[in-house]
Amino acid sequence: MQHHKNFIGGEWAAGTSDVPNINPSNMLDVIGHYDHADASQVERAIAAAAQAAPSWAVSNPQSRADALDRVGSEILARKEELGELLAREEGKTRPEGIGEVARAGAIFKFYAQECLRLRGDKLASVRPGIDVEVTREPVGVVGIIAPWNFPIAIPAWKIAPALAFGNSVVFKPAELVPASAWALAEIIGRAGLPSGVFNLVMGRGAVVGQALLDDPRVDAISFTGSTATGAKVAQAAIGRMAKVQIEMGGKNPLVVLDDADLDVAVHCALQGAFFSTGQRCTASSRLIVGKGIHSRFVAALTEKLAALRVDDALKAGTDIGPVVDQLQLDQDIDYIRIGREEGARLAVGGQLVKRDTPGFYLTPALFTDCSNEMRISREEIFGPVACVIPADSYEHALDLANDTPFGLSSGICTQSLKHATHYKRHAQAGMVMVNTPTAGVDYHVPFGGRKGSSYGSREQGSYAAEFFTTVKTSYCAA
Ligand code: NAD
Repeated sequence: MQHHKNFIGGEWAAGTSDVPNINPSNMLDVIGHYDHADASQVERAIAAAAQAAPSWAVSNPQSRADALDRVGSEILARKEELGELLAREEGKTRPEGIGEVARAGAIFKFYAQECLRLRGDKLASVRPGIDVEVTREPVGVVGIIAPWNFPIAIPAWKIAPALAFGNSVVFKPAELVPASAWALAEIIGRAGLPSGVFNLVMGRGAVVGQALLDDPRVDAISFTGSTATGAKVAQAAIGRMAKVQIEMGGKNPLVVLDDADLDVAVHCALQGAFFSTGQRCTASSRLIVGKGIHSRFVAALTEKLAALRVDDALKAGTDIGPVVDQLQLDQDIDYIRIGREEGARLAVGGQLVKRDTPGFYLTPALFTDCSNEMRISREEIFGPVACVIPADSYEHALDLANDTPFGLSSGICTQSLKHATHYKRHAQAGMVMVNTPTAGVDYHVPFGGRKGSSYGSREQGSYAAEFFTTVKTSYCAA
């Protein structure tokens, strides 16, 4: 079986240990072996990136645009194959995997164009005979640390802008999903970038991630992952005054007002809370439902959930794939127990089920009779589990929606323009959705949240320049 190496300074380098990548739909299926780097290999990758950074920073934007465009084209041309690989290692369904890969391709193509759109300002000086210019320059070496739940889209939305704006990159993917990361690195490695501009180091957070955090040659860290790790990453980066951008968890509300279109509301809840096995930072895990529509909504959603097919991610007809691994499954099961003990009613699902192959199969679970104070309503479960919390009025629903330590995505289903407009203005979240699921976003506009969900400047779209460049003000006497 092929051993997949790390990519350091333009060459494939064997790691110090190799780890099997297991398919969560079938634990007997080993996707491949992936080399883990140790701290000294991360050090070499950082050295290569630091050496490549100065000339890459002043490279012709057309050459950067061409390289990123080639990466985007190849990803799009291979979206079926890469989408299947992604579904096989992460457990989202094949169509979801292909969709994610297509998104990654589109992101590279978008940033290929952004290479040519980086703007500066020229202003009149307040002093006579002086010109003032404001320009943007790359930050330098960027360390990229990614989670497992979007194995190619999240790396793409960090790597593409980093390279577009002239930074060199050391990329550390999540341990659970090295195959998509390796495939992406292999494509980037053939795109014509100078050696050292892009490096892949696979391995454990405590080893590879920590080495990136500690090295003073890494000028900026872009991290996505859990709130607990995010806090550690922020502390380490700020401790040595590195630039840092942190995207973390969510406990996203979907408000369903009494005047909502029932079909739209059920679709939003089903899609937003349970698809991709509920393993999305933007998942609608709190369904805040008006008392006038509550019983109809719960009955319709329960019926839809009971009809969903939980099975092998690669099987045609599967609606929901397996949970990513045993650890995450244990966490989901634990929260289902906690919900019951807290007095919530399990309306449907939450059962471990057997399929043809040994995998981590859990039926989507819906709790009703929840209060917003319960742990299942406050803590991110990160699985196919959602709570229904009753609301007396629009104002009550808005208060409940905002009463959370998180602030990533916040949704409302209503036919009232007045309430939709008010909600857009008053939802305490980085992203607001009206009559559309809390998960599912465009790739050319900012992504990110508030409160415990995010720290630092926004990702994606042209706003990514805020993080991946630094501003210089130049004065010149005429
Ligand atoms: P995680 O925090 O366990 O790991 C994220 C990454 O950090 C991994 O690559 C891991 O190896 C690395 N890491 C772990 N310890 C480290 C350390 N000490 N130093 C440096 N790096 C370290 O998160 P996960 O389980 O992979 O991902 C799930 C989480 O990600 C969920 O909380 C989810 O909400 C969040 N997420 C957020 C967004 C967003 O944009 N807000 C998007 C996707 C996922």
